Amino acid sequence: MRKTKFLKLKMREASFLSRALLSTRHPVLAHLIPMRRCNLACGYCNEYDHTSKPIDLAVVKARLNKLADLGTSIVTISGGEPMMHPELDQIIDHIRVRGMIAGLISNGYYFTPQRIKRLNNAGLEYLQISIDNVQPDEVSRKSLRVLDKKLRYLSEYADFHVNINSVIGGGIKNPDDALTVARRAVELGFSTTVGVIHDIDGTLKPLSPKEKDIFQQVKKLGNKDHARLNWFQDSIAEGKPYNWRCRAGARYLYICEDGLVHWCSQQRGYPGIPLEQYTMDDFDREYKTEKWCAPPCTLQCVHQVGILDNWRDPQKTPAQIAEEQKTGKGVGEMIGAD
Ligand code: SF4
Ligand code: SF4
Repeated sequence: MRKTKFLKLKMREASFLSRALLSTRHPVLAHLIPMRRCNLACGYCNEYDHTSKPIDLAVVKARLNKLADLGTSIVTISGGEPMMHPELDQIIDHIRVRGMIAGLISNGYYFTPQRIKRLNNAGLEYLQISIDNVQPDEVSRKSLRVLDKKLRYLSEYADFHVNINSVIGGGIKNPDDALTVARRAVELGFSTTVGVIHDIDGTLKPLSPKEKDIFQQVKKLGNKDHARLNWFQDSIAEGKPYNWRCRAGARYLYICEDGLVHWCSQQRGYPGIPLEQYTMDDFDREYKTEKWCAPPCTLQCVHQVGILDNWRDPQKTPAQIAEEQKTGKGVGEMIGAD
């Protein structure tokens, strides 16, 4: 990434961050899915199919306009595999036209020099690729061996920030792979992060001593800002739940391919309201709602957004909020608490 562009991006980030700290009344980050289709079939994934069509550009633009009208700071395009959308460049361009930061999450398979240059021109600012292992196996083909050539192209041509995420835990066969991936990322000039994942049955289990050691080594290699924002991972690594306030449905939005707002990719269906009908009343309700799934949650980006407001505005359970809406009273009044 060119130095001048990097400095401009940092200044924009600082201004978005100050705005997010000064006001709680706008989304900070939205994940938008323009296509559920994916070229891969990772064994742990429930966010893809092999048949769906790309969402029309006009429809995606209308969703972006709505996000901009809600005051959203950052839009990250995700999937499925968003690089399979034939109008991805126009989507990125429209995010920038509406004054938001443009990010992309991809499995990396479609990067060629020409494609990277088109994304430069469209104004992409962030790219994240997750690499699960060094050699492909029956669970994942997001593998360093397959993707190394694509990473070299990105290192040479990308004029946007590239982050490589590796994973540890969850029964990943070779924990050393996370370190190999992180070292290669740093060698190529990218930032690197590591995600701690759950066991295959979704339960929280502490990392083994070897996994913990690798986790610490990868964290040291990685993005220092990121490491500072990911304290929750230390609890998850110990197999302990983490106490935080998830602001999904408000400060963080997940918009599926059908244009519905969900808490996140793992909690589809809540609140399940079409984005075009989403109002600040919905935003306020979700901002205040305590999420039952928060303590074991490993979704890094939602945790990071949550940090902005973790120190303010305690949350209530959905039952308390429903009762409050029915009676028109605050929870404090109902239980006579201060
Ligand atoms: S590449 Fe991503 S979207 Fe596709 S199957 Fe794997 S994890 Fe799911
Ligand atoms: S706590 Fe995690 S899983 Fe639950 S809604 Fe928030 S981001 Fe999603």
